[in-house]
Amino acid sequence: MMKLDIQMFAVPFRKVSKTRKRMRRSHNAMELPGMTKCPNCGEMVKPHRVCKKCGSYKGKVEIVKEAE
Ligand SMILES: [Zn+2]
Repeated sequence: MMKLDIQMFAVPFRKVSKTRKRMRRSHNAMELPGMTKCPNCGEMVKPHRVCKKCGSYKGKVEIVKEAE
């Protein structure tokens, strides 16, 4: 297995420069959760989930809110 990073095992932290540490960690960030726009109301919703605002999924209204 080839690793681009030369640091393969624990190295005293003072021997790793700030730049080198930051460059290595640039790939460690969690990806933002994917959000899509509801085609019905335009609200930002998570994919594969019923829209919280209008209750629609795949263009159909799945949850009909009771009249207030
Ligand atoms: Zn919606």
